[in-house]
Amino acid sequence: MKLHEFQAKRIFAKYGVPIPEGDVASTPEEARAIAERIGGPVVVKAQVLVGGRGKAGGVKLAKTPAEAEEKAREILGMDIKGLTVKKVLIDPAADIQDEIYLGMILDRARQRVVMMASSEGGMDIEEVAATKPEAIKKVFIDPFLGMRTYQAIEIASGIGLEKSQFRPFTKIATGLYQAFMASDAELAEINPLVVQGDGSLLAVDGKMVLDDNGLFRHPDLAAMRDLDEEDPAETKAREAGLSYIKLDGEIGCMVNGAGLAMATMDIVKHYGGEPANFLDIGGGANAAKVAAALEIILSDPHVKAVLVNIFGGITRCDEVARGLLQAIEQVQPNIPFVIRLVGTNEEEGRALLAEANFPTARTLAEAAQMAVAAARGELQ
Ligand code: GDP
Ligand code: MN
Repeated sequence: MKLHEFQAKRIFAKYGVPIPEGDVASTPEEARAIAERIGGPVVVKAQVLVGGRGKAGGVKLAKTPAEAEEKAREILGMDIKGLTVKKVLIDPAADIQDEIYLGMILDRARQRVVMMASSEGGMDIEEVAATKPEAIKKVFIDPFLGMRTYQAIEIASGIGLEKSQFRPFTKIATGLYQAFMASDAELAEINPLVVQGDGSLLAVDGKMVLDDNGLFRHPDLAAMRDLDEEDPAETKAREAGLSYIKLDGEIGCMVNGAGLAMATMDIVKHYGGEPANFLDIGGGANAAKVAAALEIILSDPHVKAVLVNIFGGITRCDEVARGLLQAIEQVQPNIPFVIRLVGTNEEEGRALLAEANFPTARTLAEAAQMAVAAARGELQ
C-alpha cells in the first residue's frame, strides 16, 4: 500500500526527520487559509500516488496566499498519470541549495535493508542508477544491530556532505530506518532531502510503500488507505478476499492457489499468450467468490479470453463448477472461457460444465493452448 507524500512525511517526522510544517487542502480556499497561517512563500503540491509530480506540473511555488489559492485551483482536479488530484499539500517553501536522495528498500538477496543515498537528488533514482551508478552510495543494515552511526557517516561523507552535517544527517537516516522498520515498510524514501541556504537539512518529499501483509499489525496505517487512488478492481479483490494483480496481457486467469497461479501464468506465456492478471481465489472458493473474481477479470477491457485453472483438493471441482456457472449466469460474459478442473470430484464438475456447453481441458498444457487460441479468435 502506497502512502501519500504528506502521510509519509508525518510518519518520518515522528522519528525525528525534519519536515516542512505544512497542511493538506481539498479546496483552493483551504489552500489560501493554510498559506495565510504559514505566512511567506509556499509550495503547492499535488497529492497523488505517483512520482514525477513536479515534471507533470503538480508542484508549484506561490509567493502570496492569493497565489497559493490560484495554484491550488490549477492543480486540484488535474490529471497526473491517470490519477485525478483531490488534495494538495501546502508547505512553506524551502530554500533549496542542493537536493539529495535518501531511501531504503529490502534487498532480498542479502536479506537486509539497504540504505541508498545520492548527491543527485530530486530526479528519478532509477535514472541515476542507469546513467551514473557510481553516484549512489549504499550500506546494508544488520537486522540485529540496526543502523549504526558509522554507516550513516559513511554515506554522508560518500555523498559529499560537510562534517557539520554528519550529525543531523545521521539523525535523519536513523529516523528513516526506524520509521521503515516500525511500519513494516517495503520502501521509505526522501527525494529530495534538501540542503538549505543555512546548511540545514529538510525532507521536502516523502514516499512510503507498506507491506500489505504487515498491515494487520498497524490499524492506524491501514486507515490511511486512499480508496480514491486505488485501482477499483484491486479494492474489490481485497474486499472479496482475493489476491489480484493486474498485468498487461489479454488472457484473464482464475486460479486457486498462488503457486498454481504463477505456474498458470508461466504456461500461458510458454504457449505464446500474455496473462492479463494474477488471481488467486484461494481455497474453498464458493459461487460468490468466483463471481467476484470473474467480475474483476472482466472489468479489464484487454481481456479476450479467460482461463480457469482449478486444482480440487479440499475445494471440490463440482462446487467450483456450480459456482462458475452461477457466476457466468450473473455476469453474462461475452468472451470465450477455457476451464481446466482436476482433483476431487472432477468428473462431476466437468459433467456440469459440459451440460452448459463449456469446454473443459484435462491438462494445463491443453488448456493454455486453447486459451491462447481463444484470445486470438482461433478457437472453434
Ligand atoms: P515529485 O516530482 O513527485 O518527486 O515531487 P517533489 O516533492 O520531489 O518535488 C519536485 C521538485 O520540486 C523538487 O525536486 C524540487 O526541485 C521542487 N520543489 C519541491 N518543493 C520545493 C520547495 O519548497 N521550494 C523549491 N524552491 N522547490 C521545491
Ligand atoms: Mn520527489
